[in-house]
Amino acid sequence: MTDLTAPIYINGSQRDPGGWIDSIDPATGKAFAKVARGTAADIDAAVAAASAAQPAWDALGPARRGELLQKLADALGANEAELARIEAQDAGKPVFEAVDDVQTAAAYFRFYGEAVDKFYNDKIPLEGGFGLTDRIPHGVTGHITPWNYPVMLLARTVAPALAMGNAVILKPAEETSLSSVYTARLATQVGFPDGVFNVVPGLGEEAGAALSGHPGIDHISFTGSREVGKLIMHASADVMRPLTLELGGKSPSVVFDDVDVELIAPKLRTALLWNNGQTCNAQSRILVSKKVHGHLLEALEAEFSKLEIAPGLEDKDLASLVSKQQYERVASYIEIGRAEGQRIVTGGRRPKHLDQGYFLEPTIFDVTDPGSRIANEEIFGPVLSVARFEDEEQAIRVANGTPFDLAAAVWTQDIDRAFRVAGQLRAGQVYVNNWSIGTGVNLPFGGIRNSGFGREKGIAALAEYSALKTTVVRVTGGVGGR
Ligand code: NAP
Ligand code: MG
Repeated sequence: MTDLTAPIYINGSQRDPGGWIDSIDPATGKAFAKVARGTAADIDAAVAAASAAQPAWDALGPARRGELLQKLADALGANEAELARIEAQDAGKPVFEAVDDVQTAAAYFRFYGEAVDKFYNDKIPLEGGFGLTDRIPHGVTGHITPWNYPVMLLARTVAPALAMGNAVILKPAEETSLSSVYTARLATQVGFPDGVFNVVPGLGEEAGAALSGHPGIDHISFTGSREVGKLIMHASADVMRPLTLELGGKSPSVVFDDVDVELIAPKLRTALLWNNGQTCNAQSRILVSKKVHGHLLEALEAEFSKLEIAPGLEDKDLASLVSKQQYERVASYIEIGRAEGQRIVTGGRRPKHLDQGYFLEPTIFDVTDPGSRIANEEIFGPVLSVARFEDEEQAIRVANGTPFDLAAAVWTQDIDRAFRVAGQLRAGQVYVNNWSIGTGVNLPFGGIRNSGFGREKGIAALAEYSALKTTVVRVTGGVGGR
């Protein structure tokens, strides 16, 4: 039977905490699972276990570590159906999306498992000797993850950290901790040494703050809001430790008048509505040439209004938002848009057939004021703002005009314009005539300015989860540094 508890998981075994938190099923608003309320003492215990386990894990070498990561990828694959159903209910997403999350999580463990023994460094010739560079693990790494893609985002940071020889401590979001403990248990089952992969669920202000302020943590990776990111950065300064911050965005698509509107409308829809808009790089704004503005709005309205909304386990197009808090946040932004006088093209209400749970219709605003809050602030839900532009220069200026720089796209059939605009869009990832193919595990990803810093994904993450060390050797009588 599926285990619907997320206990503390330290040193390869689970332990009951001092207290439990109810985990709410967002399709009903009712408790359906129990999550440990980890404390600072639990974090101390996890740090002790990870510190003890890390040297032997490092000494195992990249090839052996890589094999274990690939075994964990296999185990995630073998348990895909069960884990996806847990995730669908816990996070409130259609099963097909949760399956994609589990497959992507497995892909991260496989990618870093296969890559790590091919990630080697340089020999630098010197007069009278040579230098060698090497990548060494930070030691014990802390990982704080959000609720939107629980299993996928844990894999995104934990897989490269483990691959490089770090021992990890993960604090998942309190709303969605089940898949994190599930994955750590699988790691033990496939042969990871005890203490290498620890999970301490709990509240952000308790377990999260204890982890981010702990002097025994050598690197911290945080994925979540800008506000909490700042707290993590302050805490890291106090203990003098490097960190990676993956924060939010207000990512635009810039659509020119030479596109095939009917062809791209479904892609623009999915670019926002995958996971109900609760995606850090969701395309939450469209800037469209005034010449095709009306046509695009009609096409998007048709795309949005045909979607079926149902509890995640019923596996329709869209499910609920993750929590009451998130539902209220998104609903309040819809009210802000109305109060600002922006026109609702479609959506804006709770679906009539769903009277419990945290469901909202996908919503499009036709935005006439580029300074409006709904066009500039991160909503993190199924709310799209569409604004028109006069020319290329204005489009780029508005696209770059929010404090965030996570992702952006340009849609045009003119190849010069495509590269010209892509070159001027300020973002960590830029897409040309696509959005969703940017989700591959091999593409470096991360923000600029308020969207954070450091890079996840791709080979770049192996560098992020290690420190560069240079060794200099003198060779008496050597020739050409040899
Ligand atoms: P959040 O409140 O920042 O929470 C993220 C994580 O931080 C959770 O595990 C949370 O624990 C923990 N936390 C909260 N307060 C803490 C503290 N004082 N010290 C240490 N940890 C603490 O974010 P959210 O509201 O859950 O998620 C939505 C936000 O995340 C959005 O802004 C979105 O853009 C961003 N996000 C970014 C990415 C990316 O890759 N760039 C991906 C996903 C989400 P609790 O669960 O107990 O609160
Ligand atoms: Mg939170």
